[in-house]
Amino acid sequence: MSIFASVPQAPADPILGLVGRFKACTAEKKVNLSVGAYRTAEGKPWILPSVAEAEKMVISDTKLDKEYQPIDGKAEYKRPVQELIFDADVIDSGCLATVQALSGTGSLQCIAQFLKFMGVTKVWGPNPTWGNHPKIFQRALLEYDMYPYWHQESRGLDFEGMIAGMQKMNEGDCILLHSVAHNPTGVDPTPEQWQTIVQVCKERRLIPLLDNAYQGYASGDLAKDGYAQKLFTHSGLEFFIAQSFAKNFGLYGERIGYIHVKCASKDAADAVLSQMKIIVRQAYSSPPQHGAAIVNKILTTPALKEMWLKELTFMSSRISDMRTALRGAIEAKGTPGTWNHVTDQIGMFTFTGLTKDQVVRMVEEFHIYMTADGRISMAGLNPGNVDYVAESIDKAVR
Ligand code: PLP
Repeated sequence: MSIFASVPQAPADPILGLVGRFKACTAEKKVNLSVGAYRTAEGKPWILPSVAEAEKMVISDTKLDKEYQPIDGKAEYKRPVQELIFDADVIDSGCLATVQALSGTGSLQCIAQFLKFMGVTKVWGPNPTWGNHPKIFQRALLEYDMYPYWHQESRGLDFEGMIAGMQKMNEGDCILLHSVAHNPTGVDPTPEQWQTIVQVCKERRLIPLLDNAYQGYASGDLAKDGYAQKLFTHSGLEFFIAQSFAKNFGLYGERIGYIHVKCASKDAADAVLSQMKIIVRQAYSSPPQHGAAIVNKILTTPALKEMWLKELTFMSSRISDMRTALRGAIEAKGTPGTWNHVTDQIGMFTFTGLTKDQVVRMVEEFHIYMTADGRISMAGLNPGNVDYVAESIDKAVR
């Protein structure tokens, strides 16, 4: 009799479980639109050429050893990643506490623990949001609730509902916002709406946390996709950013990202950094080096940085082309409903508006793997499968 006999089998992860089912599926025609990872026009994973080049340089760099990194990552690696978000005067002010962390998820974990440590009791996230968000904050023993975000009829943002939801939050509550390319809806506030959101955060004395997992993926332009972060930075608010390099560098498996905490003073930033280091030390001691070295090599080598910026545009353009192709193919069939949201939404995902039953048909009948909420990863579409996906959506909604 095992001492683990009473341990029940946990359900498969809703997203990663679908990947397993896709692999096991023997259907001749099958499409994986579940996981948020970039795929080429041939449906293959892609190592960015800038990353491949930087990796060669990192491996042959005799100055790099395999010693432990500092708890918060190498000090000299911080500025180049801060510069993707913040202006030089903000960086120079010393008001940023920056910590290398385990991609976006690891950054959010540490931030959640920090929020608990500083006495925050409640986190509000958008409805809907990335499935892992509630779990991360609940795991840190924080209360988690949702504010309205998605408007089903317009398949757009429920801005009025969102602001009304924010008005109900209490002083000192944390509000989780996706800084760009909201997952799963692909719907972001407009610049004017962001200005109102910042204003309400100030009035209600909320603590903003910006989840930055897709900078560069929405428009291909880091500055344009960094709009909300800039606005928060110059608002005078203190806030958190979880910066992931999984998607925009294609470094999913290297677990590389950074926490940034914008503080009101250098003294506050120094104190925050010292406490964040305690959280990291106890959780995993120090971060991995390889992904951080690759990112640093790209950001500090002008030719590689230029290459990477072009690759970002290339990836976001391919996805945008697939939006046009999918909408065109669906509309050409006269499929019931409106389909402008396919091209209106941005980033990696489209929230199709398919119902749970329709999604079941997509998966079971047509072998098109997608999450139960109707989300599809546009990166999984390519010229070879887009017509089949459109045809299947047409059949599923009729
Ligand atoms: N935040 C959002 C909104 C995401 O969609 C994801 C990944 O899908 C993450 C954070 C975390 O990604 P990672 O931990 O791979 O950086």
